[in-house]
Amino acid sequence: KHRQKQRQFAVIGLGRFGGSVCKELFAQGHEVLAIDINEDKAREFSAFATHSVQLDTTDEGALKNIGIRNFEHVVVAIGDHIQASILTTLLLKELGIEKVWVKAQNTYHQKVLDKLGADLVVHPEFDMGKRIAHKMTSDKVIDFIDLEDDYSIVELYATKKIDGQSLATLNMRAIYGVTVLAIKKDKKMNIAPRPDIEIEENDLLIVMGHKNDLTRFEKDGL
Ligand code: ADP
Repeated sequence: KHRQKQRQFAVIGLGRFGGSVCKELFAQGHEVLAIDINEDKAREFSAFATHSVQLDTTDEGALKNIGIRNFEHVVVAIGDHIQASILTTLLLKELGIEKVWVKAQNTYHQKVLDKLGADLVVHPEFDMGKRIAHKMTSDKVIDFIDLEDDYSIVELYATKKIDGQSLATLNMRAIYGVTVLAIKKDKKMNIAPRPDIEIEENDLLIVMGHKNDLTRFEKDGL
């Protein structure tokens, strides 16, 4: 019987990182195949995945046998085993997997993965370290996303200083070179707010701009 190709996920390497990716996908109701070279790991994850298999993913034949080609999105979370991670990524891209996301262990690993055509390389310890540092150095920044070329999107709470003022009077774009993308009041999100909208203390502002401009706004504007 012909089976239609659906959005399917596979997670390779069920350590702390891959394990939590797998559990979260499964908890969200997705179909997910859990793979680990370690038999105990594979067994443990049969409760947290649609299927789980014991497999060395550096073995091309074994990968083909489990029909990895049917998976649209594969996460490679082979922690310390950099060589296995690199070889697995190479094989997956060669087999034509559309999205291969890989956890990198260090900067060199990251560079190699980029060259091999990994579609996203994550470096959790490094990324989390940066986030923590941002949170430590500013009590105003709630969250942020790094964009290309030193641009970011940050979430900040409006302070008393700007309470009752409109976007037009604040004139942030002219003064600081930053743009307010959205304002969240209570639980209501206002996307692309009009210039006459009045900001109140504790509104959540989602602001985009160059890092230096955002820092200036955060220090002097709030
Ligand atoms: P984390 O730092 O996220 O906890 P670990 O290094 O602890 O990552 O986990 C990596 C997992 O990847 C381990 O469970 C290990 O058995 C698995 N693994 C290692 N090599 C392979 C391989 N060649 N094929 C499949 N799984 C592998």
